[in-house]
Amino acid sequence: MKMDGFLLLLNKVRTAGKDQYMALCPSHNDHTASLSIKSVNSKILLHCHAGCAAIDIASDLRLTMADLNLNGSNTTPGFRQIEAVYRYTDANGKPFEVVRTNPKGFYQRQPDGNGGYIINLKGIVLTLYHQDKVKLAIGNATPVIFVEGEKDADRLWSLEMVATTNPMGAGKWRNSYTEVLQGADLIVIADKDSPGRDHANRVANSCYSRAARIRILELPGGGKDVSDWLNNGRNRESLKRLITEAPEWKPSRDNKAVGLVCMADVEAEEVDWLWFPYIPKGKLTLLEGDPGVGKSWVSLAIATAVSLGKGLYGMVADEPAKVVIASTEDGHGDTIRPRLDSMAANVKQIYAI
Ligand SMILES: [Zn+2]
Repeated sequence: MKMDGFLLLLNKVRTAGKDQYMALCPSHNDHTASLSIKSVNSKILLHCHAGCAAIDIASDLRLTMADLNLNGSNTTPGFRQIEAVYRYTDANGKPFEVVRTNPKGFYQRQPDGNGGYIINLKGIVLTLYHQDKVKLAIGNATPVIFVEGEKDADRLWSLEMVATTNPMGAGKWRNSYTEVLQGADLIVIADKDSPGRDHANRVANSCYSRAARIRILELPGGGKDVSDWLNNGRNRESLKRLITEAPEWKPSRDNKAVGLVCMADVEAEEVDWLWFPYIPKGKLTLLEGDPGVGKSWVSLAIATAVSLGKGLYGMVADEPAKVVIASTEDGHGDTIRPRLDSMAANVKQIYAI
């Protein structure tokens, strides 16, 4: 890719000499523009003064190291071309976009308010595609079709059917998305591959207590998804017929058997970190140490940072979040609260069992 294209992906870029620039490093919580960029021998060289590796910086910009070659040839296009842009509004009405690229890839961005984009979703509360129209449809008792991917969803909207999907595709469902589907007459159309079926089940299980009714549908015949199916000469009426015929879905009660999953069918997922590389989100972390070295104090400092939405050391700031403390040793009033106060925690966000 070209240098000017690369610089567009960064924030607070300034010139620092011939073919040399400084910018905010996208890979750590950078306030001082500590990323140095220069071109040497037709390559973009990156050096973060805080120590982030170039490969991580490229990856955070949704690039590969090959993209940092200034004369990427036409046979191996270095920079991905934008193929489609899918516009979302988040749970608070803020706009964000999922960008589909060629070669196939996705990244997310949000408008910066000056006609440009910020290549991250900081401050965005992810939600379902077309969530506003979906909520309206549910209010009118119109069935909602859940598909895998924005392309399929838009295809169904073009047939005047109400459709949605979650950002980033199969394996990226979040339980918070069920809020949009409260009371829905929901039809989940599974892509005809193993990740697609797993995803459909995950969505159905997650929505079960919220949706008014759930049906899971796998389209007959060849092809993988709704678009393939419609391209094979089917239309809105044939889809409506299949939906009418589909039985209501209930969660399986037979969950006691030992199930085996082939690793070939498991999709690799990125770990979401509260504090890289110490505390992954959604997993159990143990903080070990001798008595008296400050384990409880560190735990409360972490709770404080979470309650304030301050990113932990080296992380970018996040939304403030709630914390539950389960302490068997320290008194709530004589130890925990005074320590939290000494660290200026937002104690309204912190609960104790
Ligand atoms: Zn950095």
